[in-house]
Amino acid sequence: MSKKIQPADNIQDLQYFGEFGGVNPSITDSSTFTFLKAGKMEEIFEHEIEGCYLYSRHWNPMNKYLSQALAQLEGTENASVTGSGMAAITNVILQLCSAGDEIVSSRTIYGGTYAFFKNFLPKFNIQTKFVDTTNIENVKKSITSKTKIIYCETISNPMLEVSDIVALSKLAKAHNCKLVVDNTFSPMIFSPAQLGADIVVHSMTKFINGMSDCVAGAICGTKEFVDSLSDVNNGASMLLGPVLDSFRAASILKNLRTLHIRLKQHSSNALHIAQKLHNDGQKIIYPGLDIHPQHQLMKSLYNAEFGFGGLFVIDVKTKERANVLMEAMQNNNVGYLAVSLGSYKTLFSAPGGSTSSEIPEEERKQIGLTEGLVRISIGLDNNPERTYQLIKKCLSEMTNT
Ligand code: PLP
Repeated sequence: MSKKIQPADNIQDLQYFGEFGGVNPSITDSSTFTFLKAGKMEEIFEHEIEGCYLYSRHWNPMNKYLSQALAQLEGTENASVTGSGMAAITNVILQLCSAGDEIVSSRTIYGGTYAFFKNFLPKFNIQTKFVDTTNIENVKKSITSKTKIIYCETISNPMLEVSDIVALSKLAKAHNCKLVVDNTFSPMIFSPAQLGADIVVHSMTKFINGMSDCVAGAICGTKEFVDSLSDVNNGASMLLGPVLDSFRAASILKNLRTLHIRLKQHSSNALHIAQKLHNDGQKIIYPGLDIHPQHQLMKSLYNAEFGFGGLFVIDVKTKERANVLMEAMQNNNVGYLAVSLGSYKTLFSAPGGSTSSEIPEEERKQIGLTEGLVRISIGLDNNPERTYQLIKKCLSEMTNT
C-alpha cells in the first residue's frame, strides 16, 4: 500500500494560472487546435505530447486541469473526465473487458450500473455475477479464470454497505484481475486507490460538483490505463466520445476547491440527524452509527476528518408511507423530492421505485431494498438540529395519515 495521501491538501496545492495571469485557468473555447508545423500534427496523432493539443475529444487544456485535480484527489498517477458518471463506468468496463470475460460485482450498486452489467454487456458476451461483496469468501468463490474485474462502490447506493477495499484488492491481485471502485458517495472520505483499488470512478454530478447543475464523471488510475482510454485506435473514451465540455470542466474545478469544507458539513449534519432519528426508534441505515454492520470497518479505512458521508436511509416500511413522508418533507422545505445526491440542498427519493428500479423486485428483496426505504442526502444546512426537528414533524404527519 502506498503512502497515505491528504486529498484536501493535494487539491489546495494545485496552482494554475490563467492565460493572462488569472487566478482561475482560462477556458479553452475551441474544438480544434492549430499547428505551425504539419509534422507536429502527425506526431501528436501517434502519442500525446505534453502541453500540445489536437482536438477537444482527445484532450483539451481545461479537461486536463480538472483531470490533474482528480488524480490529486485520489492519489493516482493520472485521471480523465467524462460527460457523465455512467460514461466513466461504461468506458472503464469496455476498455478492460473483451468478449468471453466475466465481472464479479457487488449486488448493491447504482441501478444504472446494474442495468449496464445485467442487460447491456451480455450483448458483447460479457457476463456479470452479482454477489454480496461484504462477504469476501463469497467473492472468492465467484472468481473464475475468466474474471477480469471485481466491481464495487465504496459506500453503496442505496444500501450504504461499506466495501473492504483492502481485502477486495488483495483478492483482485491474487487472481490477476482489476478492482474497479465507484467512489461517488465518498470522495475524500475514502481514498480507494491508496487502499489498493486499480481504478476509481466518480459521478461528479454528485458531491464533487455539489451544485446539482451538471452531469459529469471521472476515471482515476495509472498513467498507462488513462492513456489507453484515449488511444486513437482502440481507446474507449476516444472512440465512444463521452467528452466533457470545457465550460463545465471549469465550473467543476472551482467547485472541487470547496469539496473538503462541504463534505465535513454534509457528514456532521447527516451524523447528527441520523443519530437522533435512530435514538427516536426510527430504522436508520448510516455507516456512522455503531449499529451499522461495517461501522468498525469504515473506521479502520476512512479519512476520519471527512466523516461518514452525507447520506442515510430511513425505512418507513411501506411505499405509501414513504410517499407521504417525502411529500411532507418537500412541503416543509427540508429539501427536494428529487433523485441524485451530494447537493447543497437536501435531496430525497425512494430508490425502490426510482434509481434502483432496474434491479428486479426479487433481488431488491434479497438485499433489503424494500419499497419503504427513503434515501436522504443531507444538504449543507447551517443548523442540523433544526433540520432534524423538521424531519420529526414530517414523520409525525406521516404517522397521522
Ligand atoms: N455511480 C453512482 C454511485 C451513482 O449514484 C450514479 C448516479 O446516481 C452514477 C454512478 C451515475 O452517474 P451519472 O448520473 O453522473 O451518469
